[in-house]
Amino acid sequence: MDSSLSTFQRFDIPKISIKENIWNAANSAALEHDVPFSIVGVDSIFKSLGLDVGIRLITTDSLMWNTEHRLVSDLINPRMKAVIPYSILEKKAVELTYDIPISRVIKSMGTILIISLMLSVLLIVCLIWQISTIRQLLKLDNVRNSFVHTMIHELKRPISTLKICISSLGNPRLIVDEENRNDIIDDCRMAVNNLSDYFSRLRDITFNEASQIPLNIENCDLHGMVDSIIEKTSIPSAKKVEIVNDIPSDFKIVGDRLHLSQIISNLVENAVKYSGDTVRIIIGCKTFEDDISIIVKDNGNGISDGDLNKIFTKFYRSSDAMQSGMPGVGLGLAYVKLLTEAHSGQVSVISHQGKGSTFIIKLPQK
Ligand code: ADP
Repeated sequence: MDSSLSTFQRFDIPKISIKENIWNAANSAALEHDVPFSIVGVDSIFKSLGLDVGIRLITTDSLMWNTEHRLVSDLINPRMKAVIPYSILEKKAVELTYDIPISRVIKSMGTILIISLMLSVLLIVCLIWQISTIRQLLKLDNVRNSFVHTMIHELKRPISTLKICISSLGNPRLIVDEENRNDIIDDCRMAVNNLSDYFSRLRDITFNEASQIPLNIENCDLHGMVDSIIEKTSIPSAKKVEIVNDIPSDFKIVGDRLHLSQIISNLVENAVKYSGDTVRIIIGCKTFEDDISIIVKDNGNGISDGDLNKIFTKFYRSSDAMQSGMPGVGLGLAYVKLLTEAHSGQVSVISHQGKGSTFIIKLPQK
């Protein structure tokens, strides 16, 4: 046996080898060559098979009669080993080592790897889709809860007014005075009107097409309408709010009185809501050719550039509005847009964060 056998030897080969080749070669070496055999014999077997195999002479712990084959399943460095008895009584054996090139492993596992990769991608996509569905459901649940809350809040006011008025009408002491009685009846009428307005608003918001909204077009006194909106606007006691009616007196506009009043009051309510401790709101108008623009301007919080093109979408609320716990369900501006479009008009907004917003409702008059 050549002494150089104890050092690792390699032969470069271009061919793809298989496990059986190594084991068969090891068996051939054991069976077809006398023990001890020569390196030339072993080398020539591997060379003929085109294998790059390391050959090393080792000492075994016990007597070794048969060839042992092992596959070292290391994913990074997969290798096959065969230990062939060399000089049995001297406890000498020849260890053959074949490093399986990682590219060959990948090649042989290619299909499985591609399928696993595709399945993993599919799994990740499903997971992301499921998470987004859950988030959407949670958002929808929040919207539903806040919608119900707002509805209860809006309905509570006229109902409690009606309750008080009706119990007052049952009190003979309060209704003896005719002026008193008329006041109570007026309040009743106002509460019922508020209820009916609210239900019309609910009905309108369920329409997807502006053209579906019924209109009752008439010549309206815009100045008077704005005055009564200002009077009805509820102002939080902690806020200093100034609302200016900048519409010329006796200014007339063609449109649905109820809807125009709802458009303006929604914009005014928002201007009050989305502002600091002090706010100035100016309601004005501009005539241009056949159009009239109603302009509601405030010096409140303003709207970020990112939110500007989303605020007219149903149920959209800015993250600031949600974080501050400001009441609302994100339907106000969608409703304003719907009612404006029902009049074949257009709504637009100019706003700068921290400086204020200007909403413009352009309504054709012919
Ligand atoms: P809501 O008031 O219920 O949130 P809206 O549709 O009325 O729903 O308004 C949508 C969003 O537009 C609000 O969440 C708010 O962020 C923003 N917004 C509306 N009006 C104003 C305003 N005058 N100033 C600042 N932000 C406003």
